[in-house]
Amino acid sequence: MTRSVCVSCGQEFLVRPQSPKQTFCPGSDCQRERRRRWAQAKLKEDPDYRANQLAAQRAWHARHPEYWQTYRRRQSNEPPPSPSPTKSATSDASIFGADQFGGRWWMEIRTSGPGGAPQTVRVELTLNS
Ligand SMILES: [Zn+2]
Repeated sequence: MTRSVCVSCGQEFLVRPQSPKQTFCPGSDCQRERRRRWAQAKLKEDPDYRANQLAAQRAWHARHPEYWQTYRRRQSNEPPPSPSPTKSATSDASIFGADQFGGRWWMEIRTSGPGGAPQTVRVELTLNS
């Protein structure tokens, strides 16, 4: 087996026969550094990879829209915002449904109207095409 010097930590290591061009030692920090450098080079030279990474980051952000607010709050030890108080509950129950062909959906929200009288609001959605 050949010996080489790691380009990350400078330690000598045994080169695996399966990867004779190995330049990083098998240490976890050096392997992480190797992957980081690979990803940076790939971002620089491969527009498809760059577009995919951007799309993945945007999709992740869409799934976690509160992440950075929470992160910044954690960093500044700011308390989380308390929900604004409401004087009374605005809805007691919601009912959802769809017709058997899937072309029409509806939702009913039962609320208290003026003076506390119960009322039902119905929202319908239809398929247009
Ligand atoms: Zn190393």
